[in-house]
Amino acid sequence: SKVPPIILNNGVEMPQLGFGVWQVPDDEAEKAVATALENGYRSIDTAAIYGNEEGTGKAIAASGIAREELFVTTKLWNSEQGYDSTLRAFDASLDKLGLEFVDLYLIHWPVPAKDKYIDTYKALEKLYADGRARAIGVSNFLPEHLERLAGETSVVPAVNQIELHPHLQQRALREYHAEKGIATEAWSPLGQGKGLLEVPAIVAIAQKHGVSPAQVVLRWHLQTGNVVIPKSVTPSRIKENIDVFGFSLDDEDMAAISALNEDRRIGPNPADVN
Ligand code: NAD
Repeated sequence: SKVPPIILNNGVEMPQLGFGVWQVPDDEAEKAVATALENGYRSIDTAAIYGNEEGTGKAIAASGIAREELFVTTKLWNSEQGYDSTLRAFDASLDKLGLEFVDLYLIHWPVPAKDKYIDTYKALEKLYADGRARAIGVSNFLPEHLERLAGETSVVPAVNQIELHPHLQQRALREYHAEKGIATEAWSPLGQGKGLLEVPAIVAIAQKHGVSPAQVVLRWHLQTGNVVIPKSVTPSRIKENIDVFGFSLDDEDMAAISALNEDRRIGPNPADVN
């Protein structure tokens, strides 16, 4: 089951569904990424702060999959913001991944209190110009941070990776992204698997289609136009989460899920993260 791509604003193709590895220790990440790759995932979402770029890189190397078939994302951690420190942190990430370039490099959080994200983004523009990142973007940016980038830098971010699930649908930010040509990537797309997968409306839709609640939520994201990166270390769930291209939700299902928005975050407000 090949995952269909979306086309980023610079023409680069990104699989609309990938594999996230937050909170997976390095040694387990190697196994989990290997399982994901065996089951058809071609996009992996890691970050320097996850501490598992090495395990991720080992699984990639061992897979034998051609580099051009893979889409690897990593992220610049908050403490490394600033022009020179970003370039150094990027080198360290590439080294750990064992790669010569990444497909997408993101600023993990804006950290407005430190006010370094403009210089940091200029370092990403340099990495992009040098071909060491095929696309660059941001994560957890609010419209005010994107507005400043638009005014003070030249490359429109390809992606903004934000918390997004049926309890936090981010409609205003999604519209803003669409106007600017920024792809919306959903983190914690399953709401971290907590109460969301037991919501009666979602369970009912799952029963109607003979699929799991997680598959319903992922399908809702795909049909909404989001890029998703569900995480699991359980092989059966890794398999289940990519097996979402053989059914579709109808208008009634989509409307029922849209009605679940509560503007409720699991993670912090990006304005407050230092
Ligand atoms: P998620 O929404 O992907 O949920 C993962 C959890 O859901 C699993 O640990 C498991 O408990 C459960 N689960 C997974 N598949 C399931 C299934 N089929 N059935 C039942 N339960 C299932 O949460 P996440 O890991 O927070 O987010 C996904 C990825 O997003 C991360 O791994 C990371 O790559 C990225 N992320 C980025 C940021 C950021 O600041 N940029 C923040 C959080 C996460």
